[in-house]
Amino acid sequence: MLLTIAAWPFGLAAEPAVSGVRAGEHLSMTRFVLDLSEKIEFQVFTLANPYRVVIDFPEMDWRLRPDALGAGKGLIKGFRFGLFTSGTSRVVLDVGKPVAVRKAFLLSPIGQHGYRFVLDLEAVSKEAFKKSQGKAVRPKPESAALPVASLPKNGEKPLIVLDPGHGGVDPGAHSRAGLLEKKVTLDVAKKLKKKLEATGQYRVQLTRNRDIFIPLRQRVSISRQAGAALFISLHADSHGNPKTRGASVYTLSEKASDKEAAALAAKENKVDIIAGIDFTDTDPVLTDILIDIAQRDSLNSSLNFANLVVKEMGKVTRLVRNTRRSAGFAVLKAPDVPSILVEMGYLSNAREAKLLRDNSHRNQLAGALVKAVDRFFDGRKL
Ligand SMILES: [Zn+2]
Repeated sequence: MLLTIAAWPFGLAAEPAVSGVRAGEHLSMTRFVLDLSEKIEFQVFTLANPYRVVIDFPEMDWRLRPDALGAGKGLIKGFRFGLFTSGTSRVVLDVGKPVAVRKAFLLSPIGQHGYRFVLDLEAVSKEAFKKSQGKAVRPKPESAALPVASLPKNGEKPLIVLDPGHGGVDPGAHSRAGLLEKKVTLDVAKKLKKKLEATGQYRVQLTRNRDIFIPLRQRVSISRQAGAALFISLHADSHGNPKTRGASVYTLSEKASDKEAAALAAKENKVDIIAGIDFTDTDPVLTDILIDIAQRDSLNSSLNFANLVVKEMGKVTRLVRNTRRSAGFAVLKAPDVPSILVEMGYLSNAREAKLLRDNSHRNQLAGALVKAVDRFFDGRKL
């Protein structure tokens, strides 16, 4: 049995509208329903400490009262909604205990009902929750994650920030013949910028245009302040074993990201951290939660993008085993920008150093990255 809680009357708006919300209990399940004006994409995931279910939609017109769900129902103890970032509307369900998303789907209009978003939740053990935590449930599993932070506004082209590793007093790794990482990374970044701009789809900015030292922290803030939709840090590593070769792609590891999110929250003006959230009437605890959510979102997007990069790079260069890795790179710690770090190869390996010196190989690497970027943004179109 479902119970209607509240609804505003319809008006006129270009955005998809939410006109009703209700929750009900059926056997062991708690069902959550939103009435929608049209078919939309969504993404659902769960979070712990405290237990929450998060649903992301494209930007929507919320015609609901803030107290629309009242005291909640069944497993749902509370309910918040609103614009999360430009382009993303978010629903947060507070659940008192570990839950799993059994089903999340969209119903087409039937009878007097319009489109409906339906979510079925079930209580699970802590262990079962841990397994599914953070894993996104989407209507189409093949589609990439829905947009998170810094999506282009009003048809503006997405901004891609390219970060040529090292520079100035910090040469990075070097080959035996003296080829410097900082030079390789800057040249590939410049080539990549040209190719990306040539598509007409993106704006591109470099964290450095010349041989200059830039602290890691500053690289991150350049990307965040510029409102990057994607951040790509370029490197070419060295290894004690000269036989080691192959490219690899890194994302931020989750553990480090939590700590970083906390540090960021304490240090910076919280309004700046996640664009589009109104913190004026939220308490610090909630603010931290929102930062946590944003970082999880951009992590999911980073993982998506990293997978695409691995696929495309694998066509033009050798990859190391377990090529997609994660670690606590400071340069990847923007909480709201999907970020990856690409190690294009090992300068300590003679064959790879020769390749990395080669102009056409550098162009091939840049070309592979363009393809991955294209696929990433194709997957995010609503
Ligand atoms: Zn490096």
